[in-house]
Amino acid sequence: MFSYRHAFHAGNHADVLKHLVLVATLQHLLQKPAALMVVDTHAGTGLYRLDDDYSATSGEADEGILALMKYMAATPPERPATALTDYLDLVRSFNRDGARLRLYPGSPFVTQHFLRQEARDKLKLFELHPTDSQALVAHVAQLKAGRQVSVARQDGFESLRALLPPPSRRGLVLIDPSYEIKSDYPKVADCLQDSLERFGTGCYAIWYPIIPRPEAHGLPRRLKTLAQQAKRPWLHATLAIGQREEGVQARMPDEARRRPGLTASGMFLVNPPHTLKPVLAEALPQVLAALGRGRGQGFELESGN
Ligand code: SAM
Repeated sequence: MFSYRHAFHAGNHADVLKHLVLVATLQHLLQKPAALMVVDTHAGTGLYRLDDDYSATSGEADEGILALMKYMAATPPERPATALTDYLDLVRSFNRDGARLRLYPGSPFVTQHFLRQEARDKLKLFELHPTDSQALVAHVAQLKAGRQVSVARQDGFESLRALLPPPSRRGLVLIDPSYEIKSDYPKVADCLQDSLERFGTGCYAIWYPIIPRPEAHGLPRRLKTLAQQAKRPWLHATLAIGQREEGVQARMPDEARRRPGLTASGMFLVNPPHTLKPVLAEALPQVLAALGRGRGQGFELESGN
């Protein structure tokens, strides 16, 4: 437990998919004037350096946000997808002082960027890792967001119950565990089932890894069944960057070859904004053009009512 540190993975292709979906979802939900409560059950540290040892060791951001930025600068699509431009502008806004990205915003910072003080939107963050929760508290303090943002070193699955339904009856829940332990998979499904009973109209966004493991394979199917049983609309988006070409693989350092890393992940949403599917249908081909590495690359978008 707790060997996972998101700093190794910050800004990788999975973060690109997750945070792109988060930006597009928030932009839609915040068009209505009533207060929005956002719960981030697995928050991480909120802000990451892309030039520290964690990031350098993994090199994951190089094949994620940094590759996307490079592609959009060198060979921009004729009509860049609006959601993608908004996401990239957001990331740039944390890097005012230079051409190279040094900071990457995690989900708490992505969300807080959009929240409105005047509407009394709220952000509730949960992070269990002792060091990362301390870092999160310190990073959130820099935001000077006052009571808009709260941080607790508590189990996000457990803590969510007490918050649903939110007083304004408008809420977005991001569930983004590390899946470090197998029990995270059934916990995610149980958490969604319980949450839908408490707050059936809430928007739920769940990230999961696409890896050859039965629990990972079964999770989106289980989530789809839960949405259907609750008679709620759902959206499933996946992004696979594929395998590196063999020549490229052979030239890589031993460590990187031994640990080929995650190549695909998915976002499953219940009660997604009705605008999200067309927004992603425009953005994901451009993301894939930037991040796709070869065999197995692709994206899928599926939805139901
Ligand atoms: N949501 C973050 C983002 O997009 O920037 C990344 C989160 S990372 C994938 C998952 C985090 O959940 C890790 O920092 C881990 O320490 C934390 N964690 C693991 N189990 C938890 C639990 N039961 N409750 C709250 N946090 C937990």
